[in-house]
Amino acid sequence: MIWNKAIEVMAREDLIKLQENKLQKTLMRCQNTPYYRNIFKNNHIDPCSIRTVENVKHIPPTTKEDLRKGFPLGFLATSRDEVVRIHSSSGTTGTPTVIYHSSKDIDTWSDLVARSLYMTGVRNGDVFQNMMSYGLFTGGLGMHYGAERIGSMVIPIGAGNTKRQIWFLRHFRSTVLHIIPSYALLLSTLIKADGLDPRKNLNIHIILLGAEPHSEETRRRVQDSFSAQAYNSYGLSEMNGPGVAFECIHQNGMHLWEDAYLMEIVKPDTLEPCKPGELGELLLTTLEREATPLLRYRTKDLTYIMEDPCPCGRTHQRIARIQGRTDDMFIFRGVNIFPIQIEKVLMNVSEVGSNYRIILDRDDFKDTLRIEVEIIPELFFGDLLRLERFQERLRGELRSEILVTPEVVFVEPGRLPATEGKAVRVIDQRKL
Ligand code: AMP
Ligand code: ZN
Repeated sequence: MIWNKAIEVMAREDLIKLQENKLQKTLMRCQNTPYYRNIFKNNHIDPCSIRTVENVKHIPPTTKEDLRKGFPLGFLATSRDEVVRIHSSSGTTGTPTVIYHSSKDIDTWSDLVARSLYMTGVRNGDVFQNMMSYGLFTGGLGMHYGAERIGSMVIPIGAGNTKRQIWFLRHFRSTVLHIIPSYALLLSTLIKADGLDPRKNLNIHIILLGAEPHSEETRRRVQDSFSAQAYNSYGLSEMNGPGVAFECIHQNGMHLWEDAYLMEIVKPDTLEPCKPGELGELLLTTLEREATPLLRYRTKDLTYIMEDPCPCGRTHQRIARIQGRTDDMFIFRGVNIFPIQIEKVLMNVSEVGSNYRIILDRDDFKDTLRIEVEIIPELFFGDLLRLERFQERLRGELRSEILVTPEVVFVEPGRLPATEGKAVRVIDQRKL
């Protein structure tokens, strides 16, 4: 089950030596970029003196804002002629953050993705339906190249157009899906509405869920509705895209590929290192990239290190599923709430359908929190008392998770706006 034995099960001491070696090379490359040259100079850092992994903490972290300000060439470490492709993050406002890739960068990235897919059981002979959008977004081409490297037959269908997705699922008997979790839930509902049973009439074995935070409860739902194994895939365009950290068959945290990325988990406010098991922001340094090396990139993603060894034997440390982002937490009447806490409660309740949204508003100077939830159609035809009791139960379950009582509004399946890309779950209409 191991794609690259020399690397994936390497002894930790050797892995750390390898990281130090690659870190030196990366720092040398960074000296070719105007941005890092300045950072080294202004902070009196001699990159040659940063020889150990611990010493990277002397370098100031890089943010998305820095990347934007450095547009177009501030972070480019190779000549323009060596760049064979660009990608960009999925944000829709402001200057996009652009990452340049050399031909070797694409090759390394494809191998990281191949390694990740192989770990979950994807093989030559699989039919890989890639339901992520192709284009600047990395979930399309990034996964595509990795799946091809394994020898799977890739269907580069991209996101959306559910009817067409179903047609390909049926006629090519697709075995592997790469899909955004919120769309996976919707897809299973729409397949059923088409008169098919996704558990029996299709041939899906493996589902790769990525691109947005989702809870264990959502994974379980996706697995149950397709009768397949679902694995968590983590990545971000600044670090190539998919293939940064991935779950193995044990489905217990994601192995972060430490030969390609140096990770730190820090307290977001002070940047002090967190202990294993302590939740903090993930900072990543590229160790392989030629065209756009990045040092201590602030992902804004919150996770923690899972220290216990993994039964699969891989030595690359695991991170827990992303618990949220430093910028998606909202404060309601003084309580900090992450959307994933609400998702976890909802997805654990069998009467809840596939979609929901969270609406924050202000009414006479008082904040309100309304959760609109699609529920299974049967409940609308049942008796009112049952519906009321169910609503009370759900409010209680939400209260014990988020410590405040939201208003819960039930809607019929299909009524809430559904997205084919990353879901927009929180709508904050409070005026400051
Ligand atoms: P983009 O650069 O547009 O691909 O967006 C990357 C961001 O998507 C990450 O920083 C995460 O916030 C989020 N993301 C990607 N994969 C996952 C995942 N498996 N779980 C949670 N969040 C994810
Ligand atoms: Zn493992």
